[in-house]
Amino acid sequence: MRKKIVAGNWKMNNDLTQTEALLNDLRKQRKTSFAEVMVAPTFTNLWHAYEALRKADIEVIAQNMHFAENGAYTGEISASMLKTVGVNTVILGHSERRAYFYETEEMLAKKVDTALAHKMRVIFCFGEELKDRKSENHFNIVESQIKGSLFHLKAEDWKSIVLAYEPVWAIGTGETASPEQAQEMHAFIRKTIASAYGEEIAQNVSILYGGSVKPDNAAEIFSKPDVDGGLIGGASLKAGDFFAIVNAI
Ligand code: PEP
Repeated sequence: MRKKIVAGNWKMNNDLTQTEALLNDLRKQRKTSFAEVMVAPTFTNLWHAYEALRKADIEVIAQNMHFAENGAYTGEISASMLKTVGVNTVILGHSERRAYFYETEEMLAKKVDTALAHKMRVIFCFGEELKDRKSENHFNIVESQIKGSLFHLKAEDWKSIVLAYEPVWAIGTGETASPEQAQEMHAFIRKTIASAYGEEIAQNVSILYGGSVKPDNAAEIFSKPDVDGGLIGGASLKAGDFFAIVNAI
């Protein structure tokens, strides 16, 4: 059965002092939830966050990693480095990585393979830009992003894949896809996976929605049958808002 998940992507926010304060708030405010809860601090704070949250039932995950095992890749972080600081899940393909760091579908396919080879779970992000939606090309774009980076996988690999549909026009803009737009796209994604891997795999993959999810719109988005939770940016930086979203499931 697919899981409900709410993951907070802290991006390049919070130095160590700010991270400590947020981790403290998360620990204090954590209650049992229906959804799995994850947070993605910046690399330098991963170990600290892992230690702080290990008893709080909040998984600490990474925002990115390199596909190579090790070597001359200045500034990069490998899968085994993440694993040694307690990280077993990595976000890959975030639209900011695609836009500002030129990550391509081929590069992301390699990253996915490396993560799976290290028995890590992947939260794979994708989504169309505003111009694609305006030109009604959004389904084609999403289909090619998923196919380009994930359709070489074996059926069993899908157990380690979580999808995150994040329309670029809704990220950090305050503009959210309507619950109906999210549902329509999530159903399309499930159908696309079913056509290649069969209905069972498609039904079992969790598909998160991301893009300006806030405490006041989360419940309506999460109520849609193909939306299995959320990837949360801005609203994950305050424990109260983040848990209000977690509790909306
Ligand atoms: C994100 O960056 O993954 C995201 C969803 O950001 P925000 O919630 O701030 O739109």
